[in-house]
Amino acid sequence: MFKPPAHRRAGCLRNSRLIGQFVHRHLLLPAFESGLKRRKTLRYWAELERTQWLSARELADRQLDALRGLLSHAFRNCPYYRSEWLRRGLDPAKVQSAADFSRWPVIDRETIRANRFEMRSRGAGLGLISKSTGGSSGVPLHFDLDHRSNDRRMASWHRGYAWAGAGPGTRQLYLWGAPLRARRPLKRCKDRLYDWLYRKRVFSSFDMSREREDAFVRELNATRPDAIVAYTNPLYELARSLIKRGVRVYSPKSIVVGAEKLHGFQREMIERAFGAPVFETYGSREFMLIGAECDRHTGLHLTQENMRVEVLDDDGWPTAPGAEGNVVITDLYNYGMPFIRYANGDRAIASGAGMCACGRGLALLKQVTGRRLDMLRTPDGRRIAGEFFPHLMKDFAAVARFQVVQERIDRVELRVVLMSPLGPAERRHLEGRVRDTLGPAIRFNLTEVTEIPLTAAGKLRVVISHVTDELHETKAGTLCAA
Ligand SMILES: [Zn+2]
Repeated sequence: MFKPPAHRRAGCLRNSRLIGQFVHRHLLLPAFESGLKRRKTLRYWAELERTQWLSARELADRQLDALRGLLSHAFRNCPYYRSEWLRRGLDPAKVQSAADFSRWPVIDRETIRANRFEMRSRGAGLGLISKSTGGSSGVPLHFDLDHRSNDRRMASWHRGYAWAGAGPGTRQLYLWGAPLRARRPLKRCKDRLYDWLYRKRVFSSFDMSREREDAFVRELNATRPDAIVAYTNPLYELARSLIKRGVRVYSPKSIVVGAEKLHGFQREMIERAFGAPVFETYGSREFMLIGAECDRHTGLHLTQENMRVEVLDDDGWPTAPGAEGNVVITDLYNYGMPFIRYANGDRAIASGAGMCACGRGLALLKQVTGRRLDMLRTPDGRRIAGEFFPHLMKDFAAVARFQVVQERIDRVELRVVLMSPLGPAERRHLEGRVRDTLGPAIRFNLTEVTEIPLTAAGKLRVVISHVTDELHETKAGTLCAA
C-alpha cells in the first residue's frame, strides 16, 4: 500500500488539525452557544478581544463607568447594600473616581453567608443561577449570579485560555478535579457532548495512582493535544514522577495550570517533564477567571473589563507596588447578586503602573502569593507564608506528600507521607529548619502518616491554620478556594 513520505503525513495531520479547530471554533460552538443556548458568550468574547488592546487609561475609565452603574443598581435594588450604605452615609452618585470608592466597606465570605438573600437584586428580569463553593472545613458558600454575568465570565475564560494557546477549538487534555462517582446518565451525556464540543478529554486528578499516571501518559501520547489543562499540584506530582522514572512524553504546545497556587520550582519541573511552557491562571468559583498569563509571563493580566481587583493592606489601603496584600474583588456585571469589594481570602502582589511588553492595556497582578489561610501565625505576631514549606520540602526526596496543620497558635504539626525512610540526620535537619523558622514559642511535631486527604474539590491544602485571624474576624479554615 502506498504510504506518503513522513513530511507529507505531518502536513496532512497539521491540516486536519486546523480544519478540526476551525469547524469547532467557527461552526459548532456558535451553533451551540449562540444558536441553541442563546448565550451572548461569543459576542462578549469578541468584544474582550478588542478591548484588551485599549490603553490603560481607557480601560480604567470604562471600568469606572461600569462600577458607577453597578453601585447605583445595587443601591436601588439590593436591600443589604442599600441599608449598609445608608447607615454609613455612602452615596453611589458621589463616586466620581476610583479613589472615591476606596473607602467603601469590604465584605467577606461570612457577610455573604449571613446576607445572601438580602444581597440579591429585587429588580425584574434577572434569572439567577445558584452556585456553591466547598471548603476544607466542609462548610460551603452558596451564592448566585445572573445569566448575563455568566456569559461574560465564560467569555473571559475563553480569552484568557486563548492567550495560552488553549482557546475554544483547540484540543485539550484535562487533569482536573472531576468527580469519580457515577453521575446520572443524562448528566453524563450532557458532559460528554460539552467535552466533545470543546474538544476536551478529562482525567480526574482525584486518584493519581501509578496506573492512572500511565493511563494519562498513554492518552497524551495517543491524542497529542494542543494543550494540557491541569490542577497545579497533581500535574506537578506527575511531572516529578515522570522525571524520576525517565519517562518521555509527547510535548503539547502549552500547559495551563490553575485552581492551586503555582510555585516557581513547580513551573520549572512541569516544563522540564512535558517540554512545553506553563501558563498560570488565577480564578475562583465566585468569579471564574480573575487573571491569566500572556506569552510574556510577566504576571497575570486581570479580567479588567468584568471586574475590579484591588490589593489592600490589613487597614484597607492599597498596597505599595511590590508589597503583598489581601485580594478584594468587585464583579462589575453580576447584577443578580452583586459582589462589591469582596475579600476572597487570597493574598497577592499588585503590579506597578508599567505596561506588559505584549501591548495589552490590561493591568497585571504581579503574583498570587497564596491564600490567607495558607499562613501560619506565631505567638509573637509574625505570619509565616505557606510558601516556606514547599520550598523546604522539595529538598527532601523521601517525602512524597506533606501538610502543615496549625491547630493552636503555639502548636504546629508537619504530616509527611514517605516514599522511603527518612534517615536520622535528615530528620534532624528538617526539624531544625522548621523550628528555626517557627521560633521557640511553638511546639512542633513531625508525624509520619500513610495518606493526606485532598479537599472536597480534589485539591491539596499544603498549609491549614485553625487560628483565628483577628484582623478580619474571620475564622481560619472556613474560607476556601474554588
Ligand atoms: Zn502581556
